[in-house]
Amino acid sequence: MPAISRAVLRFVSLSALMLSLPGVRASAQTALDKQITSVFPDAQALYLDLHQHPELSSHETRTAAELATRLRALGYEVTEHVGGMGVVGILKNGPGPTVMLRTEIDALPVEEKTGLPYASKARTKDDSGRDVGVMHACGHDVHMATWWGTAAIMARNKDSWHGTLMLIAQPAEETITGADKMIKDGLFTRFPKPDIGIAMHDTNGLPVGKVGITPGYSKANADSVRITVYGKGGHGAQPHTTVDPVLIAARIAVTVQSIVAREIKPGDAAVITIGYIQAGTKNNIIPDDAQMGFTVRSYKPDVRQHLLAGIERVAKAEAMAAGAEKMPLVERYESTSAVYNDPVLTQHLAATLEGVLGKESVVTEEPIMTSEDYSYFVEQGVPSFYFTLGVADPQKLAEAQAAGKQLPSNHSPLFAPVADPSLKVGMTAEVTILRDLLKGTPADVKKFTNPSSGN
Ligand SMILES: [Zn+2]
Ligand SMILES: [Zn+2]
Repeated sequence: MPAISRAVLRFVSLSALMLSLPGVRASAQTALDKQITSVFPDAQALYLDLHQHPELSSHETRTAAELATRLRALGYEVTEHVGGMGVVGILKNGPGPTVMLRTEIDALPVEEKTGLPYASKARTKDDSGRDVGVMHACGHDVHMATWWGTAAIMARNKDSWHGTLMLIAQPAEETITGADKMIKDGLFTRFPKPDIGIAMHDTNGLPVGKVGITPGYSKANADSVRITVYGKGGHGAQPHTTVDPVLIAARIAVTVQSIVAREIKPGDAAVITIGYIQAGTKNNIIPDDAQMGFTVRSYKPDVRQHLLAGIERVAKAEAMAAGAEKMPLVERYESTSAVYNDPVLTQHLAATLEGVLGKESVVTEEPIMTSEDYSYFVEQGVPSFYFTLGVADPQKLAEAQAAGKQLPSNHSPLFAPVADPSLKVGMTAEVTILRDLLKGTPADVKKFTNPSSGN
């Protein structure tokens, strides 16, 4: 297909960037680079294919089947349909630790506008029946292609490690449901429970060639809260005969911010955002009720509990102050915990990555308040290392930063990772980490973790 040929040409030209990356240049002659070079054409073809066939959360039928087939061909013991569309691949290679490497497999309801020759043209109906464009706007295709390349290198070079490698392809990350479903379907009982878990996410905030690490909290607790405020409807000209739920909702919206400003210790991160307030039908009617939608973000468990309890307390107090007869209904309907990077493990693996990519290519990043359901695996007692992979064109990123701007981020219709050499750098990082951990005994890798820390 001509489109693909042009895409390949683009890959080839961007490949030259690889030579300008100090860490990569230093290791250019290593055995690992040769192994990466040999799997790269297949990994790149997989990337292009997945990019053009994105599937929405919990509907990753084709994607999951493709990954399962490829893992089986490499000699992995593969189980499909683990918690919906989840895939688990196990490769046993003698005694030793068990290490899990996770990729997500879902795409987003975003219409791609990158103009790339291999841009997604996919459309589908979402779960509510709306016609939507579909795009790997979070770059999970980068993760999958890297994950498969890593799987291939590990399977073809079994003399370089020993233990059990557990590769999981997790569906429905974007709806924060997939990890939980895989666990409930026996991820850690039907299969070996890993001593260590590894996950990687791409970012346009770092140039290709660099990886980001964040010891401790890396992503936030996220709780969705819905409040229904009950008033008493009536004529807008006769407010004294009503209890106005619009006014109560407005007061709640203002007062909850004082929880963050006055009740949380300065320095502890906390966010309360109200994404919608809905009430009423007409300007001269005081409605019966009002709805409010919150997202509540934090890192520490005690801060999380304080915010959630505080919101409920304020909602009830404002209803009471307004003389409402019925207290508001406060519902928490979607939750995920913070992703916590074991600090000891992070320090150890940062040094490992510096060894292969170069010291200047391993960047410490600040935690961010977005959420990720990888936290479910951490909560199951799997000490983990979740790192980021730079996928931005270095020149474009430098130009954007010089102009005080940012490149289109994950979830943008313009998100366009530089797949080559991102896949190569991703494989370098993943294979190096796995080989570092898959040696010695399970007790040896436990030394790299501090199980008493974290949430
Ligand atoms: Zn995403
Ligand atoms: Zn993502």
